Amino acid sequence: MERYDIAIVGTGPAGLEAAITAKIRNKKIILFGSAALSEKVQKAHLIKNYLGLPEAGGADLQKAFLDHLSQMEIAITDEKVTLIYPMGDYFSIQSSGDMYEASTVILGAGMVPGKTYPGEETYLGRGVSYCATCDAPLYREKTVAIVGFTPKEEAEADFMAEYAGKVYYFPMYKDEVHVREGIEVIREKPVSVEGGMKVEKLITTGSAYDLDGVFFLRESVSPGQLVPGLEMDEGHVKVDRSMKTNIPGCFACGDITGQPYQYIKAAGEGNVAALSAVSYLDALRRAKA
Ligand SMILES: Cc1cc2nc3c(=O)[nH]c(=O)nc-3n(C[C@H](O)[C@H](O)[C@H](O)COP(=O)(O)OP(=O)(O)OC[C@H]3O[C@@H](n4cnc5c(N)ncnc54)[C@H](O)[C@@H]3O)c2cc1C
Repeated sequence: MERYDIAIVGTGPAGLEAAITAKIRNKKIILFGSAALSEKVQKAHLIKNYLGLPEAGGADLQKAFLDHLSQMEIAITDEKVTLIYPMGDYFSIQSSGDMYEASTVILGAGMVPGKTYPGEETYLGRGVSYCATCDAPLYREKTVAIVGFTPKEEAEADFMAEYAGKVYYFPMYKDEVHVREGIEVIREKPVSVEGGMKVEKLITTGSAYDLDGVFFLRESVSPGQLVPGLEMDEGHVKVDRSMKTNIPGCFACGDITGQPYQYIKAAGEGNVAALSAVSYLDALRRAKA
């Protein structure tokens, strides 16, 4: 399998600046995230404190970022990363689309809004999953619930229906839902996941559903779930001033590392994280020589 020098998760200012800096340093990079960039960039009305762009709107900043990527020939792999597994001197990366390998990882995935549901973490890997594309084949002819936080997840529900005997779809948004025939759309909010050794029920505000698996498909996965063993500090990834985490070769930047939540702070940390990853790669190369 092709091995990248640096895998960057997130197309907000943190991940984008990390990608640009790493590319300037001639590293082989892969950048994961939405090709439309961060919603937190798109949705800002007026930004008054971004250096060099006074009075910019979110759309202006988005365009400036996309132009910069295009000028530097940096491509975005529009896939959601679901698991990053440290393998010693490299990382194995699972996404909604494929498996990848990289020598270092930079987490610029922003802050995950909201909390997990009771039972969700208990049953992770025992009926709870965050990636329908990865785990759908495990649910052939079984009963599954998909809790989708954005309309993008409707495609995941459709894919799941190719395998499962029964699919319930719980949209966590107000838009009209377009899923294939046979998928039951339920406008109730999940309350908890229950079971014995494995998931057995999804309890909602209106009812309880007997099932074999439940998929929580959020815009992002919490960092602790994304990278097993990652040290956290009050909900943020713990880093030092060089943006190193407790896992060698894994760096983090932007909102994910803590407040203040600001574009320029995120971009600045992305720059530091990339330079630290470059130094780490140099040390790795020297150690192997
Ligand atoms: C409405 C609004 C207005 C704001 N106005 C200002 C302002 O005026 N000035 C200012 O300085 N700050 C402002 N902010 C704050 C600013 O948006 C954030 O601090 C900044 O966007 C953080 O950048 P980031 O790169 O760390 O994370 P984000 O911008 O949140 O980007 C993270 C990206 O990672 C992606 N991602 C997450 N998980 C995964 C995964 N598992 N796989 C692949 N991709 C993933 C997300 O989809 C997202 O695109 C505003 C925020 C909002 C919401």
